[in-house]
Amino acid sequence: MIVEDDDFDLLAVRRVLRRSGAAVELECVTSLADAVTKLKQHRFDLVLSDLSLPDSYGVETIRKLSRSAAETPIIVLTHCDSEDLGVRLLEAGAQDYLTKRELTPEVLSRAIRHSIQRHEELVASRHLLTEIETARDELARQNARLEKLNAQAQHFVDTVSHEFRTPLTVIREYASLMRDGVAGPVTQEQRRFLGTVEDRVTDLNTIVDDMLDSSRLKTGSIGPRRKTCRVEDVLGTMRDSLEHKAQRRNVRLSFDIESQLPFVYCDPEKARRTLSNLVVNAIKYSGNPGTVVVEIREDIDASGVVFSVTDNGAGIPPESRSRIFDRFDRLGDLDPQNSGFGLGLAIASEMARINFGELNFESEVGIGSRFYFSVPLDHPNCIANRFIQFATQTSEAPFSLAVTAFRVTGELDADAENAIERILFRELTQSDLVKRVGPKEWVIGTATRNTETRAIAARVKQAIEHEGRNRPQGPLPHAEFSPMETWSLPWEHESALIHLSRRLREPRLKTQEFNHAKHVC
Ligand code: ADP
Repeated sequence: MIVEDDDFDLLAVRRVLRRSGAAVELECVTSLADAVTKLKQHRFDLVLSDLSLPDSYGVETIRKLSRSAAETPIIVLTHCDSEDLGVRLLEAGAQDYLTKRELTPEVLSRAIRHSIQRHEELVASRHLLTEIETARDELARQNARLEKLNAQAQHFVDTVSHEFRTPLTVIREYASLMRDGVAGPVTQEQRRFLGTVEDRVTDLNTIVDDMLDSSRLKTGSIGPRRKTCRVEDVLGTMRDSLEHKAQRRNVRLSFDIESQLPFVYCDPEKARRTLSNLVVNAIKYSGNPGTVVVEIREDIDASGVVFSVTDNGAGIPPESRSRIFDRFDRLGDLDPQNSGFGLGLAIASEMARINFGELNFESEVGIGSRFYFSVPLDHPNCIANRFIQFATQTSEAPFSLAVTAFRVTGELDADAENAIERILFRELTQSDLVKRVGPKEWVIGTATRNTETRAIAARVKQAIEHEGRNRPQGPLPHAEFSPMETWSLPWEHESALIHLSRRLREPRLKTQEFNHAKHVC
């Protein structure tokens, strides 16, 4: 279609077209309105258009034409030869522009060929883009559906696991009472059967704990309950049940614990879970006859205590090593004797991290494996170093590391102390450091922005007030936060390390210093 209101120009274009030898069918119109009407009625291969028409002028003509014929290439024929105009015409939707003065059959036929070709490519890529966008929308819809289903499944697993806990404990307790003869005399064989019931229930309990822990770890709802403790606090009563398990599997389990180990700084329950999962695995996957050795020693660089578990099992093939800590990955273990869901190592690794350590392993096929992790010594330098390392791994760089002093004034009996620590652990996250540094004082480290520290302070104070109101012993003591230092990491790593260690070593701010700290809140 030629859109041209000047008879002379129209004649000239037609002549050039004819001479170019192009076999074309022509439709000629003299106004924009007619062109738009024709474009609605027919599909044209190309529009050659003048800019000045009786009902439209300049770039606007092309914009309107291109709006009514997105599928048709437009070449502009103009008297004006300006680069600026050319750019604006292309932006408005033209494929090309030619000056009428220089119009030759060769120029026109080349422009027509190129414009049609370019436009076809453009239309094809637009179609492709639309298809991609439709596919992306569909994918987003499917993802949302899957996320919802996943959340429902997780909720279902959480509820079922939770509901399993009490009956399992009851079954185990009653089996144990019967085995001990509390409900009347039992034969040797009955005692053996009841022992099996007890063991199997204990296994089931471990699976239930794994399910619940895995879900809590995923949502980050496990608080930072790290404290100064002894290695014996970590071991608790786990040795008995592990030894029992080893016996049942005919595995020789031994503990080699260095004497006089220093105090450590960790959440003993999480360290126990980590160690227990490793020992249970070592027993499950050890050789025949099985041997498992648990070693607990101070780190060579004296920064922590290392817990390691060595077995004489089949080892882990090199190709499976990268996915050993993935949730639900069992590395193809289908032995019905080895019950499990592939959660044990994922949980152990996450819990080792929460204790500012890292779960590692070395393994040789046919010889066995050694899994190990360490927890920091209860020493300001060790804690500061491990905390900063942990924050650097868990926060997106660059980030701020803020240290806040938290203290209470007034009577602090054991019950109030517990209540306050419980609130602190609840309101802070796994990545925060909460270290008791004096009878009524804590140092809090957060990898966060200052505004967030203030929000945490407000939440903790509100919780203390709220809990105090419902306490039969009366309100909890008054609490205050005092932001102290903030460092930008990774740049101020050294300074953060030195000062945080000092804060943990010489924590007590003089009351005057505390009160005059910049923003007591
Ligand atoms: P589960 O034991 O429930 O399968 P885990 O996460 O504890 O889940 O372990 C994942 C997989 O890693 C196991 O299925 C097993 O194939 C392998 N594995 C774990 N510990 C050992 C070990 N000590 N020796 C050999 N393979 C192991």
